[in-house]
Amino acid sequence: MALRLYNTMSSKVEEFHPLRDNEVHMYACGPTVYDYGHIGNFRTFVAVDLLRRWLRQSGYKVHHVMNITDVDDRIIRNAAHDGVSVQQYTAKYEKTFLEDARMIGIEQPTLTRATEYIQEMAEFVAKLVEKGIAYRTDDGSYYFRIAKFPEYGKLSKKDFQGMLDGARVDVDEYDKDSARDFALWKSPKPGEAFWETAIGPGRPGWHLECSVMSMKELGESFDLHAGGEDLVFPHHENEIAQSESLTGKPFAHFWFHARFLLVEGEKMSKSLGNFFTLRDLVLKGHKPSSIRYLLTSVPYRNQLNFTFDGLKQAAVSVERLRNFRLRLSAGNFPAGSNAAMQSLATETIAGMRAALDDDLNTAQAQAAIFEMVRQANVAFDTGGVRKDDVPPLLAVLAKFDEVFAVLDDDDVPKMKRVLEWAAAEGREKDISAELREAIQSGQMADADIEAKITGMKSARAARDFRKSDAIRAELAAAGIIVEITKDGIRWRRK
Ligand code: AMP
Ligand code: ZN
Repeated sequence: MALRLYNTMSSKVEEFHPLRDNEVHMYACGPTVYDYGHIGNFRTFVAVDLLRRWLRQSGYKVHHVMNITDVDDRIIRNAAHDGVSVQQYTAKYEKTFLEDARMIGIEQPTLTRATEYIQEMAEFVAKLVEKGIAYRTDDGSYYFRIAKFPEYGKLSKKDFQGMLDGARVDVDEYDKDSARDFALWKSPKPGEAFWETAIGPGRPGWHLECSVMSMKELGESFDLHAGGEDLVFPHHENEIAQSESLTGKPFAHFWFHARFLLVEGEKMSKSLGNFFTLRDLVLKGHKPSSIRYLLTSVPYRNQLNFTFDGLKQAAVSVERLRNFRLRLSAGNFPAGSNAAMQSLATETIAGMRAALDDDLNTAQAQAAIFEMVRQANVAFDTGGVRKDDVPPLLAVLAKFDEVFAVLDDDDVPKMKRVLEWAAAEGREKDISAELREAIQSGQMADADIEAKITGMKSARAARDFRKSDAIRAELAAAGIIVEITKDGIRWRRK
């Protein structure tokens, strides 16, 4: 069965097949590195990461390119304001973005930086001028003449009848309902960063950056182009206009857009006080795995309402999955196998596959794994899980985690790094008691805990219950709950 994916271009869910063999070439619009990434940004980046991981699990080789927009109006303005070069300004935010992406389980795509493709961008403009599609204005800027691209508006389904030929706009972001000739290349203003090129001094427009980098790295036609829903117009519409009018070929075949998230039911904004960077949430004591889980718990095309209750719920869900895995890998089971458990594992794999093939229905995939956990937990307690059932059940968890990436218990070291960063930035006041506590109680690594459990087991074998209880109390103080059952000793984190 093939993946069915919504394509913004056709406004339909279509079967996804790559253009070339079983290789997927995809491009995602990356961050503009002028500030710390917020959870809205990561909603989209995690959705793209999930798509990448699912394509790979489905047997495709994935070439995933993401740009870093390291030059645009805001960056130039902020760098000038701070009196530093564009490069100095963006280096810091690029680094923190990549750290954040790693923290939240995003596999790193091939990165392209806009400032490393400036000459190619200038060449691209020159070719558009040659074809009579772009024109130069008196100040040395270049614009795309949208009247030369009759299909303009085909992605956003906007009707641009009566648009003004020759009306221009020179900013990267403009009125969502007006169609104007847009800037491909901007001549330098006094005090602004610029590059010397064959078409004169200046800098590229944001839309041009993505057309040039995507086609350079993935070819003139490639499989899929992704971003948040706000990019449909004008950004992606303009990329299509530039690219297709130059090559005469279809640019990206699939257009993948993630819906904007809300925070506590409202649009995220600094003035409402509901604007959170990823680091803000970790500083409040939330685990990266809970955040990732919450971001994937609503399918990418549905509106995700990010709430703190939801975040707590997500933490509980991740914990349940981790504890279940632990119970499977640490328990003692009677020999043999139980046909019901074997088919539970097979059905769960099939259920997850069907859900994710259905336009990445992540909520349903999560429901499938929790149904397995529920049924297996019932079976545990009645001796219904046998030794040979363990590997297939663990294999389901592993498949799930190849895509969702929340089971490895590496939250604490990640949280520790955020704490150290905040301290180094002089932001002690933002470090919550909850974060300190989470780090404290999570300090003990799995291996240390296992060693203590072994100590408990030998103490009990020697009927030294006082020693066993002492170890148990020590673990409890570190937030580890130990259960002694007839099958042996199990532990989990509080
Ligand atoms: P930017 O750094 O502003 O260029 O945005 C990077 C990515 O995050 C783009 O794909 C945006 O569409 C996406 N994005 C920005 N805000 C949100 C939001 N509230 N929800 C989902 N995606 C967003
Ligand atoms: Zn882009």
